[in-house]
Amino acid sequence: MQSHASFSDVSELQLSVRGPVFTPADPGFAPEVAAFNLSTQHQPDLAFGALDAEDVSTAIRWAAERGMPVAVQSTGHGATNAIEGGLLISTRRMLELSIDPIEKTARVGAGVRWKAVVDLAATFGLMGLCGSTTDVGVVGYTLGGGLPILGRKYGFASDHVIAFELVTADGTQRRVTKDENSELFYLLRGGKGNLGIVTAMEFHLFPGSDLFAGGLYYDGEHAAAVLEQFSDWVTSLPQEASASLAFLRLPDMDIVPEPLRGKFVVHLRYAYQGDAAVASQLLEPMRRSAPFMMDGTGPLDATQFDMIHQDPDQPVPVRERGFLLDRLDSGAKEAILRHFGPGVESPVLMAELRLLGGALAKSAEGEDTVGARDAAFSFFMAGMAVPPLAELLPVVFDSVREDLRDASNGGTFVNLHGHFVDAEDRERAWGPTVRERLRKAKASLDPKNMFSFGHVVGLPVIDQTVLLEDVVTAGGDAVLNS
Ligand SMILES: Cc1cc2nc3c(=O)[nH]c(=O)nc-3n(C[C@H](O)[C@H](O)[C@H](O)COP(=O)(O)OP(=O)(O)OC[C@H]3O[C@@H](n4cnc5c(N)ncnc54)[C@H](O)[C@@H]3O)c2cc1C
Repeated sequence: MQSHASFSDVSELQLSVRGPVFTPADPGFAPEVAAFNLSTQHQPDLAFGALDAEDVSTAIRWAAERGMPVAVQSTGHGATNAIEGGLLISTRRMLELSIDPIEKTARVGAGVRWKAVVDLAATFGLMGLCGSTTDVGVVGYTLGGGLPILGRKYGFASDHVIAFELVTADGTQRRVTKDENSELFYLLRGGKGNLGIVTAMEFHLFPGSDLFAGGLYYDGEHAAAVLEQFSDWVTSLPQEASASLAFLRLPDMDIVPEPLRGKFVVHLRYAYQGDAAVASQLLEPMRRSAPFMMDGTGPLDATQFDMIHQDPDQPVPVRERGFLLDRLDSGAKEAILRHFGPGVESPVLMAELRLLGGALAKSAEGEDTVGARDAAFSFFMAGMAVPPLAELLPVVFDSVREDLRDASNGGTFVNLHGHFVDAEDRERAWGPTVRERLRKAKASLDPKNMFSFGHVVGLPVIDQTVLLEDVVTAGGDAVLNS
């Protein structure tokens, strides 16, 4: 397959869409392709800021005619492996947002972040199923399943999708619900960006009242005692409660609050919906597990989800790796302490155990492609991707994974998979059956694997990308790669 593009081709795109088109020579190109993860430098040949579904459809048709691969980005929170070549469609301007307070539903455009949804929903006493930070895009998060703060009570965010509006590789706009395009409905709920670009999504909201949440910080010297208690405590937690435990080596930087700056701490994150006294009482065993430095738990407003995990709110250069665990037995605990316990010099800034189970273990709308249903915990690591740590991180990640092999279920949760290391790893979030269904759908809807970036099945078929730099160098209207 060969691709052809020229300045006049780019002009043709510019004239047929409403949003801006950027070549690498344009000043607007760098901010348009920038990711939240500063270590990921996307290098598409062309970037396009779509304004609506029609724009997305036109751009996809334009790319298809030229054999260009297409990537999509909204916030860049999921940017792990960099995009090289092709057309990057940015959805950040697609900010449609409406809420039906009677039906308790929301409709979002592809560029909407959770922050906008939780703020508007709260005015109606409602909430959406956001994850640890409201800065991520609602659509990208939900296409990956979407593991919410209150996931054990409500399940994955993708369990509560009513409809997707999808543009496939031929530029066709399709509505996808459990009754319309039902196979696509199955595959989009957890299947990530394999099958097209979602331009809008409708989903259920939930009552946003009676939240009790926050975190307990312990000095890292108590890591063993806290982990021991955590592994016991989670076995009897009701579904209304969600919890995670993070081993944090916090940098000595202004963005970290003074008492925690430059420290090694263990952070218990907790959220409960229901009676506040019960919520607080449930935490008692963890409060007794070791002396804590700070107790930030209490009643929580539905606009304050970011207070629970306290994820970074500014772009940072990180390398990430995650996988799923079946159990937290003594071998797993020993391995975790060996790598992240007191006295260990580790380049890993955060290692997090997130409790799964409860409503996460079953799908509300029948089958879907979420790969984390059977697991007991999500395990996720992130480290600063700056020299010399950047080179150490993959080695440490491999070693941790090896040491946790016995407790691991062999799979990953696509949203928390992190960087993939090879072709097999990039599709490891899905088991063989789902992978096969994704492949089949791709063979029919995207036979040339136009959507071949990120966590997708199959290798790229489109083998040529348009190098606008060459056009610039040639300084003319030359047809490239012909
Ligand atoms: C600090 C932090 C905390 C996080 N916490 C959680 C959490 O608690 N739970 C959880 O489940 N995940 C969590 N994530 C992971 C996050 O949900 C994923 O990275 C998700 O992909 C982010 O989506 P985005 O659109 O914001 O990112 P982007 O980088 O813009 O997109 C990531 C990918 O999503 C797909 N995608 C995005 N938009 C579209 C679209 N319109 N159509 C088709 N495909 C699309 C594409 O494959 C794209 O490459 C977290 C990430 C970060 C950085």
